[in-house]
Amino acid sequence: MKYCTKCGRELLDEAVICPGCGCAVESNVPAVRGNEKESVLKTIAKVFMVLGCIANGIALFPLC
Ligand SMILES: [Zn+2]
Repeated sequence: MKYCTKCGRELLDEAVICPGCGCAVESNVPAVRGNEKESVLKTIAKVFMVLGCIANGIALFPLC
């Protein structure tokens, strides 16, 4: 358990914003940023996969 540095409210360990005062919770910030970056890369990869499937579908459509 950790506490807000501004208002002293109890926070969940995974909380990033204090529900009492709305200020950002400082701990775990680098790990959260790393996860966000990874999820963004995964999202970009998914978008390119979908675009590739669409491009293949368009390329193969005249052959059908
Ligand atoms: Zn607070």
